[in-house]
Amino acid sequence: MHGFDRRLFCGTNGCATRLDVDETAAVAHCRICGFTRRIERTH
Ligand SMILES: [Zn+2]
Repeated sequence: MHGFDRRLFCGTNGCATRLDVDETAAVAHCRICGFTRRIERTH
């Protein structure tokens, strides 16, 4: 599947964990600090 950025990083409060991307739900989640970000198709 194309169109999702798999290189999202958390970046919250100095957390540098790579986010787990859930393409089905269109969200990226940090399992370390719990941060969740909605993601969008880029193409
Ligand atoms: Zn985090």
